[in-house]
Amino acid sequence: MDDYLVIGAGLVGLATARAILERLPDARITVVEKAADVAAGQSGHNSGVIHAGIYYAPGSLKAELCRRGRIETVEFCERYGIPYSLVGKLIVATDETSKVRLDDLERRSIENRIVVERIGARGLAELEPNVQGVDALLSPTTGIVNYQLIAAAMRDELAEAGVQLHFGVEVTSIVEEDGIDGGSVRVRTAEGGEWTARRLIACAGLQADRIAKLAGIDIDFKIVPFRGEYFELPASRADFVDHLIYPVPDPSMPFLGVHISPTIDGRVTVGPNAVLGWAREGYPRGSVRPKDVLDFASYGGFWRMAAHNARPAIIEMKNSLLKSGYLEECRKYAAGLTLQDLGERSAGIRAQAVRRDGSFIEDFQFETTARQIHVSNAPSPAATSSIPIGRMIADRLLASV
Ligand SMILES: Cc1cc2nc3c(=O)[nH]c(=O)nc-3n(C[C@H](O)[C@H](O)[C@H](O)COP(=O)(O)OP(=O)(O)OC[C@H]3O[C@@H](n4cnc5c(N)ncnc54)[C@H](O)[C@@H]3O)c2cc1C
Repeated sequence: MDDYLVIGAGLVGLATARAILERLPDARITVVEKAADVAAGQSGHNSGVIHAGIYYAPGSLKAELCRRGRIETVEFCERYGIPYSLVGKLIVATDETSKVRLDDLERRSIENRIVVERIGARGLAELEPNVQGVDALLSPTTGIVNYQLIAAAMRDELAEAGVQLHFGVEVTSIVEEDGIDGGSVRVRTAEGGEWTARRLIACAGLQADRIAKLAGIDIDFKIVPFRGEYFELPASRADFVDHLIYPVPDPSMPFLGVHISPTIDGRVTVGPNAVLGWAREGYPRGSVRPKDVLDFASYGGFWRMAAHNARPAIIEMKNSLLKSGYLEECRKYAAGLTLQDLGERSAGIRAQAVRRDGSFIEDFQFETTARQIHVSNAPSPAATSSIPIGRMIADRLLASV
């Protein structure tokens, strides 16, 4: 019997296994992952931004774990020679409404103890001649990285320390049992395998609600998949921006808006948007999985969410179908971009937990039983925050022993 079984080899699952090992070097730990390698889900399909922690409600887990996660992600990269760059981020206001929201963001940054600088329209023009705005907030400590490389380094570190990593293994049943020796959790897989452990940690991203239900946990949310579609600028535009360029986000939405990002491998991406995904793990455009559609279509919370957000949802959908609409969003702050600049790039899919009342779960959220911890909501900035999220889970596990 294992001491700990982790479901999911995304950044959160891997970071959790590391954190347990840090505290209990002799623990028997197994990680099971249904894909062929690490980072097959959100962890390998994201914007590659090391967030500073500006946006999140002061006192929330997101605010605290992102602030610490940025520092620890950079330290991890230094330790394993993973390329990263603190290019800095500019949040650009393009009209008076967004300028007022920028004031709120500046106040929030200060409350969250994040260094920012209000540089105004003139400062913006000096730093980024291709970007236009009436005001801007500079976050000099925001960075970029390839999170797949971080996940691969975590995988190798865990394997070297004796953690068992099993790929191509899909968990289909979870049974928690009492017993004289403290009880256990038994897991069965689609491939006919079986594992038993004293504690189970589920870090299943887009499948978080289904895995929680497998374990018999009564949950008040469903994962709704939101596709994030990107474009990529041609190599001739590789110097279009030096910083990450973000619009001022709509505070009622959990997504940050279409941004322009230099990547660590020298490209420039535009995106992601946020449109409903018709397949939780179908990355190519047009992917549909009837089971996934039925799942949200039969959920009252989905329809309540859709009713609250009908206008932005329709605009996003239109811009997803019409590249010219997408371009218009970007041209609000980068007027020099043209349709020819927007080359295809693969999409990501966000796991966003939505409550029965139709509201988005904003913060990171966990469900627990006597012997299990399930990560129910770990959207952005959970890549940046994965190392402290893992530590927090390990501490909770040890406190419950
Ligand atoms: C478009 C997009 C852009 C983003 N940009 C950023 C960013 O710039 N910065 C940032 O900090 N965050 C960003 N994020 C968020 C970040 O990528 C995620 O929050 C983070 O990767 C979540 O990690 P995870 O381990 O919880 O989930 P995942 O990486 O999704 O991992 C879950 C794993 O569980 C496995 N699994 C599921 N079910 C089973 C099963 N039954 N049996 C076995 N294995 C199973 C899956 O195959 C998967 O590998 C972005 C996300 C998206 C989608």
